[in-house]
Amino acid sequence: MALSNRLMTELPPLPFIDLKAQRARIGHQIDAAIARTVGHGQFIMGPEVAELESQIAAFCGVDHVVTCANGTDALILVLMAEDIGPGDAVFVPSFTFVATAEAVAARRATPVVVDVDHCSFNMDAASLSRAVGEAKRQGLTPRMVFAVDLFGQPADYDALGAVAAEHGLVLVADAAQSFGAERGGRTVGALARYTTTSFFPAKPLGCYGDGGAIMTNDPAGAAVLKSLRTHGQGRDKYENVRIGLNSRLDTIQAAVLIEKLKAFPGEIDARNEAAFRYDGLLSDVVETPRVANGARSVWAQYTVLLPQGADRESVRTRCQEMGVPTVVYYPIPIDAQPGYRDYPRDPDGCPNAALLATRVLSVPMHPDLDQDSQSRVAEALHLALGAG
Ligand SMILES: *Cc1c(COP(=O)(O)O)cnc(C)c1O
Repeated sequence: MALSNRLMTELPPLPFIDLKAQRARIGHQIDAAIARTVGHGQFIMGPEVAELESQIAAFCGVDHVVTCANGTDALILVLMAEDIGPGDAVFVPSFTFVATAEAVAARRATPVVVDVDHCSFNMDAASLSRAVGEAKRQGLTPRMVFAVDLFGQPADYDALGAVAAEHGLVLVADAAQSFGAERGGRTVGALARYTTTSFFPAKPLGCYGDGGAIMTNDPAGAAVLKSLRTHGQGRDKYENVRIGLNSRLDTIQAAVLIEKLKAFPGEIDARNEAAFRYDGLLSDVVETPRVANGARSVWAQYTVLLPQGADRESVRTRCQEMGVPTVVYYPIPIDAQPGYRDYPRDPDGCPNAALLATRVLSVPMHPDLDQDSQSRVAEALHLALGAG
């Protein structure tokens, strides 16, 4: 960590997520898989789709995997499978990507916003209890919880599951950021009744476009989801037994994912090694992320908390000048979003989410991140915070 400020500004900027480095490792296998799909020409529900689904089932230790068009549709399909709509309350964390709440609102059900824990950034079980009470007071029927595994760390499914069981709620994991993570000896996919994920390119397991999936051990639920993703089909394509969607995963994307899944366990290890190195490089100037006992993150993001009162925008600008990109995930909690602020929430508010939104900063994280690049990130952050 001895790079001068001047030298740093002369180096080429670092990528935030380095998909080019991944292409250099496994691009030729992926391109060959795409070419095979183009060759057989079964672009919709070709053989790679079912093959990927059974590989993901084995990887996650679940019985059923239903792929779909994206992670938002995965949430919508679960709501449709459980027949959730107007008058129903679905509990969502305040600190998440908007899609978690959007899926609920899109089905004309009511997203009820829950605060998060300030250490894990994930949904807080005590706040969930209060939010259930509020939903009932407003005459809504509490039905479902969308727990989000923010930045790659699984939520506390034991604590959330206890509240869900007490109130008869279906517990769903929005694992768009945590595919491949673990908690309590189980892999994400097996931690809730339904688990949804996304294969958007920037997610830990990303394809070359949009993609998503739902994992479950419930055979009846899986059968309904399969019907829903193909226009509510019955015995065949032209018998439609329910109102569905067109939400299939493209065969080409399944082929890409089959190749990427082979490299994924090694990538998860590399992400954890990079996170460990960041912990050592950054913990003297910022609050580094904490992972719960018995949990393993996949580090969709490495997100630090800047010191209280630090001017985040000027820190970001100074880092950018030194070629170090940063992103704020997320600047506005759901309960403060213009499109969502009229929805109910924990009657005590969501103060942890509000505070996190002002202090979080995500730094470059991907499986090809090397020690030199991380030293440069650390040096930039120290200089930008005036601690260099
Ligand atoms: C990315 C993301 C989604 C949506 O996934 P898409 O594939 O982009 O639709 C949903 N929830 C969370 C928490 C996400 O990060």
